[in-house]
This record gives sequence, structure tokens and C-alpha cells, in this order.
Amino acid sequence: MTQEELFKVLVAHCKEYGFIFPSSEIYDGLAAVYDYGQMGVQLKNNIKNYWWEAMTRLNENIVGIDSCVFMHPKTWVASGHVAAFNDPLIDNRDSKKRYRADVLIEEYLAKIEEKMDKEVAKGKKRFGDAFDEAQFRATNPNVLREKAKYDEIHNRYVKAEQANDLQEYKQIILDAGIVCPISGTANWTDVRQFNLMFSTTMGSTGNPDLDKIYLRPETAQGIFVEYLNVQKTGRMKIPFGIAQIGKAFRNEIVARQFIFRMREFEQMEMEFFVKPGTEMEWFKKWKENRMKWHVNIGMGEENYRFHDHEKLAHYANAATDIEFRFPFGFKELEGIHSRTDFDLGNHQKLSGKKIQYYDPETGESYVPYCVETSIGVDRMCLAVLSHAYAVEKLENGEERVVMRIPAPLAPIKVAVMPLVKKDGLPELAQKVVDELKYDFAYQYDEKDSIGKRYRRQDAIGTPFCVTVDHDSLVDGTVTVRERDTMTQQRVKIEDLRALIDSKVSLTNLLRNL
Ligand code: ATP
Repeated sequence: MTQEELFKVLVAHCKEYGFIFPSSEIYDGLAAVYDYGQMGVQLKNNIKNYWWEAMTRLNENIVGIDSCVFMHPKTWVASGHVAAFNDPLIDNRDSKKRYRADVLIEEYLAKIEEKMDKEVAKGKKRFGDAFDEAQFRATNPNVLREKAKYDEIHNRYVKAEQANDLQEYKQIILDAGIVCPISGTANWTDVRQFNLMFSTTMGSTGNPDLDKIYLRPETAQGIFVEYLNVQKTGRMKIPFGIAQIGKAFRNEIVARQFIFRMREFEQMEMEFFVKPGTEMEWFKKWKENRMKWHVNIGMGEENYRFHDHEKLAHYANAATDIEFRFPFGFKELEGIHSRTDFDLGNHQKLSGKKIQYYDPETGESYVPYCVETSIGVDRMCLAVLSHAYAVEKLENGEERVVMRIPAPLAPIKVAVMPLVKKDGLPELAQKVVDELKYDFAYQYDEKDSIGKRYRRQDAIGTPFCVTVDHDSLVDGTVTVRERDTMTQQRVKIEDLRALIDSKVSLTNLLRNL
């Protein structure tokens, strides 16, 4: 199966097993809007808990807030979103499909990189231990040809981005021979800017211009406008951070990658306020800290990488992405930005309120600088789901689909099953449920053969299945079957809680950080 086919299968699996549904499906859905089902919501909550506790409990100087989706419209003038939260869009006249011009160019560049990597991999195979990658890249004619192509387009792209030169975007697309994947033609329109903010009206003047209000495109501004309240009421001393989880809305131009790019999504953002001049040190610390949080989940260090930005957003003096290996390649999962005093400084200007920190040690007052970490909950769900999905051949020739979701994030931790629906086994199984339900999300299942029940639990990623049989009535032990290894062991009912907890506990995950 190609990665693309695998992705399609994953999307279908997520729907079939209650993780994620297209929104308003009975009306044929709503583009790039998705609902989380009974399994998806638990996965999402577990991810949010892991982030929230890691931020606010493991850092004495980070507190959380919950601000509103609606904010004063001036917020978005101060933040720069009204003027500059745009994407460059381009249409293909033949397919009538719309694309982001920057993404078309970046994908073209990524393909060239892939070609060069393939050449290197071939060389490695051919030369074995004697292989010198740097020398190969500097001398192999195929690599050099691709590299020249890459450099030419890349240099032009960086310049066009910096100058916001929309005409040059189009010229690059034409010169590189980039065609629409649907029509296969290069019959492109000009490139235009498109503001991504959704607006609606609030109030009753009847004048849509006066009543116009935006749905927040990021949660961060809620933190900035509450900075003074939190700092004062919490008697926070710099450096300190404010964390928030909440919905954000963006009218994305291209939204064809399931929950990777949605129009309504959720963010987990933390703004860390520091003394000006110390921001690079904190930027470095937060890069390390956030990568550790990801790797700690156990989805393989090799599936993450940093991508430092060459072109910085208008508010940043340093920026990097943590990228994850999604089925469609390495893509941004989290952004880390050093935002200087851009946001607080602009809110100070536009509101006329003094937003400064008085440093009792030096007697100075200043507008704090800020380092931001920002991750999408939905992208994180997609990272976990796409990494977890596996199809395995069993010894008896059958196949099983198993979601190897890291146990502390799994929606259901344990399934309890009586072997048969009689002889007092359901009653004892119910007692086992009563023993476990206060600590773990569980399912009780008594339908079909045990094999079928195991398959159902594998498909939603339940780490443990507990089977109650006739021996259980006599000796108080049950069979515990583990999802990944499929090994089984007899365990006393009173020891179940500790055994399950040792694998699924969020506390243990946090302890490892
Ligand atoms: P991209 O370049 O992919 O559009 P971005 O750089 O605009 O993302 P940020 O503004 O840095 O993203 O947002 C921070 C995080 O929020 C991203 O790393 C991503 O995880 C998440 N995110 C942003 N836009 C979306 C979206 N449309 N759907 C789902 N998650 C999103």
C-alpha cells in the first residue's frame, strides 16, 4: 500500500470505529470541518491532559487560562491579523481547483529533495561502508543537477516571500512547470491575497461594519490581552508563562488533508514572558522542552525533526517548527516562535493602557518579550492515529488491524469480557468492572466469540483485555491479554488495577519528562 492509500484507509477506519466523522454528514458534510466521535473525544482529551499537566503542573511558573473566542475587534488590528493574516491563492482555470501558491512551490521543492535523497540511498547501497555522503552529494551528477534546480527555485521563492511579490510566485510556478494535479495543466490565474479570518456580527446597530467581529484565528491573543490581569492577580514574576487550550478558526483555502488542516480546530498555546535580551536562551530551552514532550510519548525519535524558519513572520525574531512524519511526509505539528514584544507592545499602543512589568530587583519597567509554543490538538491526534494504524498477519493466516496508540493516550484502557454469557460469569465480570471503573476508561463486552471481541478492541487501540472464565469463579484470577504482543497471563483480580496502571498512567508519562 502506498502512503496515500494508507491514509485513505486510515480516514475510513477513523469513521468506522467512532474516532472522527465528517461534520453534518447527513447533509453531505461541510468542507474541512470534522466531529470527534466517542473514541476520538477520549483520545483528544488525553492529549490535552498530557499537555496541560506538563505545562501547568510541571512548571511552577506557568498558569492556565480560558479566554473567549470573541474578542474586541481592535485585538486583531493590534496583532496584525487584519492587515497581514493572508495566504496567497491561485486557481487552475481548467479544474476550477484552488491552491495556495506557496504550498505548490514548497511541495515542488520537497519532491526535488526526495529525489536527491533517493539518489543518496542508492549510493549508500552500492558503496556500503565506504560510502561518504558529503562527497557523494558534492560530486554525483544526478544529485548536482537536482540541487541546481532546487537552489534556483528556492532562492527565487525566498526573495518573493520576503518581498511579498505575488507576480513572482506565479512566474516561479510557470517556470518550474508546476501543473494542477487534477487537470494536469498550467492554466493558472494570477496569485491573490486572501484573509483567513472568519467574521460575523455582534450587537444590533444594524450596520455590519460597526458590528463586525472576528472568530479568533489563534488562542494566543486571549493570553496577551489577559497578561496584566494574570501577572497582577497571580503575582507572577518574570520569567513566567500562561497556557491555554481552545478553539481557533481559519478560513483555509486548501483543506483536503482530513484533520491536518481544518477550518475549526483546537490549539494548545503557551506564551512565556521573559526579560528582553534573554529570549534566545528561552527559545532554545523551549525547543528542547517541547521536543522532549513529543519523544516521551514513544512514537520514535526519528519521526520528528526541527525545521528552522528562514523567513520570519512579522512578529518574530526566531522561529522553528517541530515536524512529524505524517503519511504524506514531514509536516508541521508545532510552531515555536520568539515573538519579541510585538504583541504586548501593540496592545499597549492601541489600547492606551500601560502593559509593563516592573522588575523589583533592578527597579526597571519594560514590556516583556515572549516565546510561544503552539500546537494543534487535531494535528496531534492525526500524528497519533496515523502512527498507530497497523495491519498485521497472524500465525493462523488471518489479519488484524491494530491501533498501537501509546497506552496513556488510548481512548479505552481496558475491556472486560465474560467468556460466556452464563454460569455467573457476567456477574463476576461486572464486579471486575466495578473494581476498575473509577480509574480507567473501560468497555464491557459480552457479544460474539472472544477472538472477535479482541479484534474490536485492537481496532480502537485498547491496551488490555480482561477475560473472566470458569476458573475465575474458583481462584479469583482472570486472563489479561496485551494488545501489542497479544501475550496472555493469569492475574488475580485484586492485582489488575496496579498492572493496568503501570502501563496506562498519565502520571508515569509525566514523571519521565
Ligand atoms: P500551516 O503553515 O500548516 O498553515 P501555521 O504555521 O499557520 O500552519 P500556526 O499559526 O503556527 O500554524 O499555528 C500553530 C499550530 O496550530 C500549527 O502547528 C498546527 O498544529 C495548528 N494549526 C494551524 N492551522 C491549523 C488548521 N487549519 N487545522 C488544524 N491545525 C492547525
